[in-house]
Amino acid sequence: MSFNQFNLDSRIVSGINRAGYVTPTPIQLAAVPPALAGHDLIGTAQTGTGKTAAFVLPILHHILTGPRQQTRALIVTPTRELAEQVHHVIGQLSAGTGIRSATVYGGVGAGPQLRAMREGVEILVACPGRLLDHIGQGHARLGRIQIVVLDEADRMLDMGFLPDVRRILGHLPVQRQTLLFSATCPPEIERLAAGAMANPKRIAVGLSCPAHTVSHALFPVPLPRKTPLLLALLEETDTESVLVFTRTKHRAQRLAQQVARAGYRVTSLHSDRTQSQRQAALTGFRRGDYQIMVATDIAARGLDVEGISHVVNYDMPNTVDDYIHRIGRTGRAERTGDAYTFVTPDDASAVRAVERMMGQPLPRRALPGFDYAELLPSKKPVARTAHGVSARASTLPTQLSARPAGRRNVRRVRPAVRFAVR
Ligand code: AMP
Repeated sequence: MSFNQFNLDSRIVSGINRAGYVTPTPIQLAAVPPALAGHDLIGTAQTGTGKTAAFVLPILHHILTGPRQQTRALIVTPTRELAEQVHHVIGQLSAGTGIRSATVYGGVGAGPQLRAMREGVEILVACPGRLLDHIGQGHARLGRIQIVVLDEADRMLDMGFLPDVRRILGHLPVQRQTLLFSATCPPEIERLAAGAMANPKRIAVGLSCPAHTVSHALFPVPLPRKTPLLLALLEETDTESVLVFTRTKHRAQRLAQQVARAGYRVTSLHSDRTQSQRQAALTGFRRGDYQIMVATDIAARGLDVEGISHVVNYDMPNTVDDYIHRIGRTGRAERTGDAYTFVTPDDASAVRAVERMMGQPLPRRALPGFDYAELLPSKKPVARTAHGVSARASTLPTQLSARPAGRRNVRRVRPAVRFAVR
């Protein structure tokens, strides 16, 4: 992989060599071709991945292949430091092209910024507040902007700049290319993108943002109450197709049997099943023969089934990547979907990681009327043997239900035909 594959103007290639870049980074490989082709992009990438060059290179190429001496690219950043950093990368990569960029931010004299804008600087790197001042005073002319980059959009959200960003976008030509970069995926950013971009391509390094059509909820629950909670949720919720994820194949198999006993049409997908069993499970789930499929992560990789209304993480996924992958099975093709995740106290750090990725806390939900009380640990009576006190005697039915007497979850057997777990 080399930078040659991008067919960039030779002066830019010289800039790349001077900067010492030998091979493109993953985000550059993913972003440069569609950006050069004029697509709107939503890029998920952290600082340090080479994301700046990923948008600067297409901008430089675009400027060199069109009319000069006009402000045709705008990069909006949350902080002055980032604006200066981006300006620096532009300087490095554009040396020898005559392309000029200028930074625009508050806290410094406006004189040099005004001069730069008057003289037709070709790339503006700006923080929202000062740029809006210049727009208000008629100094910033943005009518020829063809590419706008919203860099670190999630930080702009955190800093309260989103209304300013929207106002700035309102001053730009509608016919333009918009590139948005963000390290996390808050829904506000998705909404901003939906309003400001045309059919954007999503590119990601490591993480791609979950679709905004999926709503997420955590269900705190004691471990022994997970299965009853799942059954109660299935009972109470209007579902189409439900995909349930467990951490292990044994649990997938056992849970599928329990769900089948409750009267649902259910199948399972895990690595203990043969290829033909897996295929039959998938086909049946796709066709709607099964309402529910219980699966492990490995088995569900690449699963493409339309119309999954709910994904239930019966067990918290091991990684954020797995979380995104699992919940990506619902909300496909702009349909809405729900992602429910059962969490126990042991899952606290995994929950924090997912919330960091989402850029916000996830709502905690409780199923009204469900009895969350954990079963008391069984009191294993100690048996006396000829040799004294032995290990455990037989398990007497001493497990006490903390459920108040007379209140049982009624498990209605669905009228649907019962299918065994196959
Ligand atoms: P960024 O994620 O844009 O802040 O870039 C992080 C660092 O990676 C910067 O110091 C860049 O100069 C450097 N960099 C960007 N692209 C490349 C590349 N293709 N090869 C080597 N270094 C790069």
